[in-house]
Amino acid sequence: MKTINAINNIALHYARLPQHPYGTPGKLHDFRVEESFLTVLESALKEVFDHCPLGTPNIITCAGILVNKPGHHGLGKAFDLDAIFWDDHQLVTNNFIHQKELYLGIESFLRKHFGIVLNHLYPNHADHWHVDTSVIVDYHESSQSETLYLQMVLHYIYGKPVIIDGISGPQTRAFTREVFNRLNINTPITTKVNYLKFLEITGKIAFKLSKEKVTPIQLLENLETVVDNLQTADKHAVSQALNSFLFHDDTSSWLNTIDDDHDLEAVIDSVLS
Ligand SMILES: [Zn+2]
Repeated sequence: MKTINAINNIALHYARLPQHPYGTPGKLHDFRVEESFLTVLESALKEVFDHCPLGTPNIITCAGILVNKPGHHGLGKAFDLDAIFWDDHQLVTNNFIHQKELYLGIESFLRKHFGIVLNHLYPNHADHWHVDTSVIVDYHESSQSETLYLQMVLHYIYGKPVIIDGISGPQTRAFTREVFNRLNINTPITTKVNYLKFLEITGKIAFKLSKEKVTPIQLLENLETVVDNLQTADKHAVSQALNSFLFHDDTSSWLNTIDDDHDLEAVIDSVLS
């Protein structure tokens, strides 16, 4: 066991109440960590930030490594990542909806190193990524957390209208095959070498997309996602208000003038070449 307050010169901070509010850079903090797990953390974060267009950050806020509870946290072999801070940018995991490409780029590379990654849509993990090495890196259709990731990238990176429910079925399999063909990756996804290649290429594509200009159309899509997640009582009133705004003649003619050319195909080609 070792005590650390940085990984690869990235400061480790703590930002949870009562001391420091979540989503802020918080304060430098000592964490106890098991040494072989630290080695994995170092190589994972190196690969993530070598590829990330924002480069190496200054601060990562961590909600815990060695924590007095059952499972891998109890052994100092699990890491809860709340947020990442660069000079002029930040990624707070709870804000997934507004930074989907950057979030999924980071997660794609994390998944190459950690067999367990619990993300924003996994129950009780909206505000942090949990990563550990208790299982080997692989894709299993029966895994809820792995299928959530797969469906999220199919939907938000590759634009496939898949239902994101963590359950693999004919629809998820068909879209996966389509995307694997487009990326020139052999199927099935359950073969480790194919899965690793998919993670790497998807990470690069997501990072490229994260650099593109955000259009008002994407901001509207984010708003629609937020509305979809509201409680039923509020949802009806808010979506009615949103729709009467969207369907107003002046709004529609304005929206029609916006070029929402994400140019996914060109981004895919540039990553594959
Ligand atoms: Zn955890």
